[in-house]
Amino acid sequence: MKLQEYQAKQLLAQYQIPIPCGEVAMSPAEARRVAASLGRPVALKAQVLVGGRGKAGGIQLADTPDAAEAAAAALLQKEIKGLPVRALLVEEAVPVAQELYLSVMLDRAAQRLTMISSAAGGVDIEEVARQSPERITRLRVDPGVGVRAYHARHLGAPLSLGSALLAEFSAIAQGLYAMALERDAFLVEINPLARTADGHLLALDAKILVDDNALYRQPDLAALQEANETDPQERQARQHGLNYVHLSGDIGCMVNGAGLAMATMDIIQAYGSAPANFLDIGGGARAEVVVAGLRVILSDPQVKAVLINIFGGITRCDEVARGIVQALQEIRPAVPLVVRLVGTNEAEGQAILAEQRLLMATTLSEAAQKAVAAARGGLGR
Ligand code: GDP
Ligand code: MN
Repeated sequence: MKLQEYQAKQLLAQYQIPIPCGEVAMSPAEARRVAASLGRPVALKAQVLVGGRGKAGGIQLADTPDAAEAAAAALLQKEIKGLPVRALLVEEAVPVAQELYLSVMLDRAAQRLTMISSAAGGVDIEEVARQSPERITRLRVDPGVGVRAYHARHLGAPLSLGSALLAEFSAIAQGLYAMALERDAFLVEINPLARTADGHLLALDAKILVDDNALYRQPDLAALQEANETDPQERQARQHGLNYVHLSGDIGCMVNGAGLAMATMDIIQAYGSAPANFLDIGGGARAEVVVAGLRVILSDPQVKAVLINIFGGITRCDEVARGIVQALQEIRPAVPLVVRLVGTNEAEGQAILAEQRLLMATTLSEAAQKAVAAARGGLGR
């Protein structure tokens, strides 16, 4: 899970990492109020979960509350890389002398958290790593030792900070590592870490990726995830514990097993159409899960046909069939459903579905062809 910049900065502050003064604004009037209360020029920053907002026009500077209100009105109407801007972070605009880079990320190959620092901050760090790797300093952290002051100084030494700032840097590096470890983050990145004109260090931007599998022990972060989720289908799917990703095509897919789901999506593409979603109902799914999955798929107005592809192993075809029947009764779908149901208890499953208004298929390619034709209005039920 990704956190919004303002959420990430609040976490940084919990670890005594300095951030600019600021507040979130959801309207131009609120942006004006925040700018007025800060009493100085502000930066207005679109809160969207993509990188490179600056280049995409998602960051505006404003000298007065009037200008902040106008800039907020413009930003709140924008889309940044296809995402609507619902909130702005309005912060004091800090005069910056130099932009540095500092991050902690999980290095899976090394099985360690790794810290990276660079004097070339503000820009795309992957680009720096490719073009001038000598400008990057790495520290693989021994989990038994952690980040000691001498490690932090090793990271900070190439940044030519001077002794007072190096001490600030060391505290930030140690705080960042503690945060990554305690908050189960894959990545915590400060880019830029600004050296301000008045000679301090300040986290101007913050990016955090949290391990979803750890959210059960990070209840405050899990609550943020709820707040950040904007796709209604994905929210509904998560509430039912379904493995669902919303896509842009028009054929809804319900499949057991991630590999089979991928294959199903590929074959839909091969027959000239596109999947509306990825949905893996998992192994041994009960009828209730099938109903919940179909409910999510059918609540997407883009869906013109549904393809249910079940290869029964641990999953029992009769159980899935009962779920389909229940869903047909409860939801009364307006679009055609294509069903391929093979494997464990196949005959029982087929018998349960015999009287239903469904398009049945035996092979996957037959099922995909029928779904593509049905979505185009070429097949009735
Ligand atoms: P990103 O483009 O999504 O990574 O957004 P950032 O928060 O990193 O901002 C991009 C750039 O905008 C930074 O590298 C800075 O150059 C500039 N910027 C952002 N906030 C401020 C600020 O408060 N003061 C100044 N002077 N520049 C800022
Ligand atoms: Mn940035």
